[in-house]
Amino acid sequence: MSNEKKADIVIVGGGAVGLFTAYYLTKSGAQVILVDQQREQLSCSHGNAGLVVPSAYVPLAAPGMITKGLKWMLSSTSPFAIRPQLKLSFYSWLWQFMQNSSEEHVTRSLPLLYQLNQRGSELFDSFYAEEKLACDYQKLGHLVLCKSDKRFKDELETAALGKPLGVEAIEWSKDQLAAEEPNIEIDTLRTVFYPGDSHMNPHKLIENLKLLLLDMGVVRVEGEVCSVQNRNKKVLTVLQNGEEFHSNDVVISAGVWSDKLCQKLGIKLPLLPGKGYTLTMDNPSQQARRPIFFAEAKVVATPMGDSLRFGGTLELGEMRLHINQARVKGIIESIPKYLPTFNMSQFKGITPWCGLRPCSPDGLPYIGQCPPFKNIYIATGHAMLGLSTGPVTGKIISDMIAGQQPEIDLTALAVDRF
Ligand SMILES: Cc1cc2nc3c(=O)[nH]c(=O)nc-3n(C[C@H](O)[C@H](O)[C@H](O)COP(=O)(O)OP(=O)(O)OC[C@H]3O[C@@H](n4cnc5c(N)ncnc54)[C@H](O)[C@@H]3O)c2cc1C
Repeated sequence: MSNEKKADIVIVGGGAVGLFTAYYLTKSGAQVILVDQQREQLSCSHGNAGLVVPSAYVPLAAPGMITKGLKWMLSSTSPFAIRPQLKLSFYSWLWQFMQNSSEEHVTRSLPLLYQLNQRGSELFDSFYAEEKLACDYQKLGHLVLCKSDKRFKDELETAALGKPLGVEAIEWSKDQLAAEEPNIEIDTLRTVFYPGDSHMNPHKLIENLKLLLLDMGVVRVEGEVCSVQNRNKKVLTVLQNGEEFHSNDVVISAGVWSDKLCQKLGIKLPLLPGKGYTLTMDNPSQQARRPIFFAEAKVVATPMGDSLRFGGTLELGEMRLHINQARVKGIIESIPKYLPTFNMSQFKGITPWCGLRPCSPDGLPYIGQCPPFKNIYIATGHAMLGLSTGPVTGKIISDMIAGQQPEIDLTALAVDRF
């Protein structure tokens, strides 16, 4: 490009969503500038649990969530908590979340969330086959361990919701589990196997995807965007340091920070951070072949090459990348209950990672144009599924910008739905 300050499209935010958007746009022939703060701790995409999960079709806004959040507020180690904030936007989000936490909303959203995740999974398969990016990508399914009959019954009910969609769920006997997971001792009462899921090392994916994009001609700019302005069919993107970029279209994929940029455009985009933690153990004494979810504790253990990453917790509300040691302790304490050869002392010296998931009040992402602006697109709000649905989001935005009909009906994902 002769002048790097002009491009067809500027993308704000280079997490999984922004990077896959840049990938599909560039493949379609567009010139892309990707602006990101390039501070690893400011992206939720690096340290997450690495799952691609067509089996995760129940939205965050579901019956019982508010009750659980309020009940668990009193426990410092619980896997889910709501942290009240002194902001009107927090209470407005919570109100919308309560309105959406219904059976009807779950029934309506299941096919859409499944479609997003399943298409995300297919695109990961073809992306991996084509680009052969080193990220430990494997499609071996994922296991759900239940230590109580009650939790197992709940899991079967959830699995039954996925059956009409085509999601396979198989109960494994203890012998089958031992044969399929020979390198790790597992303590469980009942086990459900979801064969359609995949996993990877998300940090490797992000870093290698950035390099691939450079090779493909994407211009990467380090900096913080302070405003996006619509200027007569063109868009002006302004950085904190005064740099300006002109483009035909802009995509805001700035994760949990996207609402700030929207506010400046006069657009309301309800988002709350949902903080979660992971701990990565290198060369564990025993290693799993596939991700293992501890159902009661809501903790997942994902094998990533020679490491095993444990992740969990959803703390809604607090916009701070601060490690709450009590929540981390909650994760660590749950591990020996399911994997008895692990103990608390093995986690000494492991630095926890935390990330802020961008959560919308109905548990569905925002994907599409940002009315009234036809050339500003939003791609965020993916909550627990931004890695899984990153490729499909990028593909949809790329198709829309190219004037093609997106492959998924976006009505329920409209940016102005609240
Ligand atoms: C513990 C945990 C486990 C998880 N496990 C999974 C999982 O297994 N599978 C899954 O699918 N999802 C998982 N998630 C969720 C997933 O990590 C997120 O949904 C996803 O990373 C969001 O990606 P994103 O691109 O929208 O945002 P981010 O990755 O947060 O990227 C946003 C980027 O925008 C940049 N930015 C923000 N504002 C500006 C600005 N003004 N100017 C320039 N740049 C800006 C930031 O620096 C950042 O790099 C997990 C999350 C957590 C916390």
